[in-house]
Amino acid sequence: MNKKELALEVIERLKNEYPDADCTLEYDQAWKLLVSVRLAAQCTDARVNVVVKGLFEKYPTVEALAAADVADIEEIVRPCGLGKSKARDISKCMKVLRDEYNGKIPTDFKSILSLPGVGRKSANLIMGDVFGKPAIVTDTHCIRLVNRIGLVDGIKDPKKVEMALWEIVPPEEGSDFCHRLVWHGRDVCTARTKPHCERCCLNDICHQII
Ligand code: SF4
Repeated sequence: MNKKELALEVIERLKNEYPDADCTLEYDQAWKLLVSVRLAAQCTDARVNVVVKGLFEKYPTVEALAAADVADIEEIVRPCGLGKSKARDISKCMKVLRDEYNGKIPTDFKSILSLPGVGRKSANLIMGDVFGKPAIVTDTHCIRLVNRIGLVDGIKDPKKVEMALWEIVPPEEGSDFCHRLVWHGRDVCTARTKPHCERCCLNDICHQII
């Protein structure tokens, strides 16, 4: 089985395993996902979902958050860690949305990527989840799993993993596939404990059964 064939097989099996897998960050407006994804760096999605409730209660619009005192944002988001830099990025990003995009998120990848504090992972997440466009989100679970499964060979750099996956994953499958990798990485192919290969739906095709 070559890498493209392996990718298609893995995609189908994970679809059966996690038919409804989606983003575990909760949001009802696109700009809120942008804030949450910045807060999610080195923090769990569960904690972010709790912290943003307080943030969005106090600052319910892009304009309100753009006008907020950075120190107050920092105070609220501190439980997510890296409070200073996250608060600074969120404040700058909201100001750009307010001043340059009429309070909306731009729809093209390059413009999203140019927003303060937004990297490729976040920009891809927005493209896939908000705009329903092709996206490959290379978070820590994705990188660990695609290496173990054998879809890439010893690549750890997120951008390189993303580029390698674009070559073998059908574009329309990318976003959901990456969400499913996160679910599988949490439940079965775990990072901190020995992965549960004995109950893994990929254990006859995975290159690294442990
Ligand atoms: S077989 Fe094991 S190493 Fe491979 S994906 Fe499944 S849990 Fe991970």
